[in-house]
This record gives sequence, C-alpha cells and structure tokens, in this order.
Amino acid sequence: MNVADTELIICILNDAGYKYVQDIDAADILLFNTCSVREHAEQRVLGRISNERHRKKSKPELKIVLLGCMAQRIGERLIREDLGIDYAVGVDQYKALPRLLEQNQGCLLDFDTNENYQHLLPVHQGEHCAFVTIMRGCNNYCSYCIVPYVRGRERSRPYEDILQDLQSAVKRNMKDVTLLGQNVNSYHWKDLSFPALLKRLQEDVPELYRLRFVTSHPKDLSDDLVQVMGDGGKLCEHIHLPMQSGSNASLIRMNRSYTYEQYLNRVKALRAASKDIAITTDLIAGFPGETQEHFEATLSAMREIEFDYAFCFKYSEREGTAAAKYQDQLPEELRLSRLQTMIELQREITLNKFRAQIGKEVEVYVESFSKKSMRQVSGKTRDFKIAVLDGDRSQIGTLVRAKVIAATAGTLICE
Ligand code: SAH
Ligand code: SF4
Repeated sequence: MNVADTELIICILNDAGYKYVQDIDAADILLFNTCSVREHAEQRVLGRISNERHRKKSKPELKIVLLGCMAQRIGERLIREDLGIDYAVGVDQYKALPRLLEQNQGCLLDFDTNENYQHLLPVHQGEHCAFVTIMRGCNNYCSYCIVPYVRGRERSRPYEDILQDLQSAVKRNMKDVTLLGQNVNSYHWKDLSFPALLKRLQEDVPELYRLRFVTSHPKDLSDDLVQVMGDGGKLCEHIHLPMQSGSNASLIRMNRSYTYEQYLNRVKALRAASKDIAITTDLIAGFPGETQEHFEATLSAMREIEFDYAFCFKYSEREGTAAAKYQDQLPEELRLSRLQTMIELQREITLNKFRAQIGKEVEVYVESFSKKSMRQVSGKTRDFKIAVLDGDRSQIGTLVRAKVIAATAGTLICE
C-alpha cells in the first residue's frame, strides 16, 4: 500500500515540476512514507531519519518530509521534537504537498473523506509487478488496529481510474498486478461490487496476465467472490485472508465480526470452488487476554487449515485503539514466546505444503536473478510461491513453465 501511495506522490510531485531521484546524495528533498501498524515500523523510520539528518549540515537547504500514517498520527509532535523533520503530510493531503514545500516548515493533516485522488495516474516504479489502489481507508475498527484512525473512512476509487492505472501497468509489460485496499471486498463504485470489478477488469484489459488482490476481510467474502475465484482466468489461485486468531473469545475482543467456524466455512468454500487455491493469512500472537487455551485454539486452527504461508505478528499496543485500553495486556516475553511457537509451526506446515508441489508443473513469472547465484533466476508462481530455477537474463520478465523438483519452507526449486 505504501508502494502505491509513494507512486501517487511521485505523480503529484512530477506534475508540479519536481524530479524523482533515487540517489539520496542527489536529492534536495527526502520523503519518508511511513506505516504505523506496529510500533516496530515506526521505530525503524525514526532510525532512518536520524541516520540521514546529518546531511543537512553539508546541505542546509535539504528538507525532510514525513508522509503517511505516522505523519498523520504524530507528525505534528515529531516536528516539534526537532528530529530534522520539516514537513508532515497526512494521507488525504498529498495533492497539497507541492504548495506546502514552498513554505519553510509545516503540517497538512486534515482528513478528507471524499479524497480518492481522482484522475491521478501513479507512476509505477516496479519493473515486473504493479500495485493498483482500488480503495482507501477502513471502517472496520478491529480493536487492535490503528488503520481507521490514520487512514480515515473507507472510499472507493472510480472504475475509470483503476482501469487506466491497470492499462498503464500492462502497457509497461508488467504481468502481475495486485489490486489494493484494506478491505477490498467492500469495494463499491456506483453499482460496481468487488466481484463485478474483477470480472470487468479481466474483460476490459485482455492483455493482462495475472490479477491478484489484498486484503480480503473474511466477514465480507461473498459467495459471488468465491465463484469469481473459481472461474480462474487471469485471477490467480491465491487469496490472502487474515484470520488473526483461531479462538472465538479473542476474535470477539478483536472485533473481527466472524467466528472461527465461519472463517473455516469460507476456506472450505474457496477450496471447493478452486481446487489448487493457496491461502495465506495474518496471525497475531499475544493479544490482550489471550489464555494458553485461546492460543492453542489458534495453533489447532493452523493445523486444521494448513495455510500455505502465515505472516505472524506479535501484538503491538497502538495508542488510541480499543485493545490498548484492555486491562489484561500480556507480558512481552509471553507474546514473544507465543510468536516463536507460531512461526515454528507454520514453518513445518509451509514446508509440507511446498513439498506437496514436487513433481507438479507450475508457471513462474521470472522477476530477477536469484539471490544466491547469477545462474539461477527467481520469480513467483500464480499461487504466490517463490520459485527458483536455472536460467539467464533472457528469462527475466517472462512467464516460463517449470517442474518442481524440490522445496524448502519458502521456495520451490524448479527446472
Ligand atoms: N486490512 C488488513 C490488514 C492491515 S494491517 C486486514 O484487515 O486484513 C496488516 C496486519 O497487521 C493485520 O492483518 C494484523 O495481523 C497485523 N496488525 C495490525 N495491527 C496490529 C497490532 N496492533 N499488533 C500486531 N499486529 C497487528
Ligand atoms: Fe485494520 Fe481491521 Fe481495517 Fe484491516 S479491517 S485495516 S485489521 S481495522
């Protein structure tokens, strides 16, 4: 999501006459686009800014801009704290950034529920994969989550803008496109629903190869969407469906609006509609009040469902959210040890899932050389698994058929 927002900001600054340079030594303005979902992400940005602010000594005209969720949340305070940040711009104010840059210092942090950056075409920076925003904000208020407070109310992007964005990615030969939103299932523009959007994009952009989306909220995953997933076509056989916990007691306190049984029902429906669909998830370890029994319910759900992959997070208190006020916060060591247990279990499950692919033929979209060798290339399968195979530069950017011959807990080895 931040990649897509950064591309939008580049578009706005380009239009105002600024030139985007990646070489930090050549830049007159440093832009930090930030995430507030977990405290760790915020600490990292502060570390980065403190590493770069020394540049102001030899280049006094250098400006530092904080963008995104963290700017929204605490930008004003950070400017006051004299950390070297000159400007803070919130998620609905990017169009005013060029105007702000004419001043010496300042903040623009107002929310604007109607702002969906209509008619702006982000400048895709990737070489092979593109991210296309279809909606902004979130109305769900999961009790642990800062997103609704820092990204504002949910709003959908007009179809025409999404289409143009997708067409521009496809024209640049990007073969793997991900549609983005905090809860794509509640996309709504005029009478266009999310499943209808997926169908229409596939019809209107016949040159498209692969289409994906993140993130789906399980409570809004309709039978219509299950059916569209089952139809296949350009839509890849993968869905990221954050479960967060396998315990109904925790799910209620997380305000997720589904039970584990309902979640499992959606998983079964997806697997019935699309036999080979890969399902990935997000899980939180050590949520307030999580007993050993609740935690074990999550482990047993992981065993029952066998996710292809799970992003496991240690619960992080976010100021202002409902869960931060819960009185039964767990000690840090317990959160950490549960996180480790979760990661280890998922590693085993992922390894088995990946090994089960041995002998199969897969389509790999080759994106780069592999990290280990220039004689190997690496890419992604349609079901979002990393694959490596012997190859050379000529394959980069192409789709190849390959046979899986071995697997680790994270990579398919192919030939
Ligand atoms: N909109 C997406 C998620 C956005 S945040 C959705 O609803 O699925 C991405 C992930 O970060 C969440 O799925 C959750 O697992 C994790 N997360 C969010 N807030 C968190 C917190 N306070 N502590 C730990 N993990 C958190
Ligand atoms: Fe956060 Fe829940 Fe919205 Fe996702 S759906 S962004 S987890 S509040």
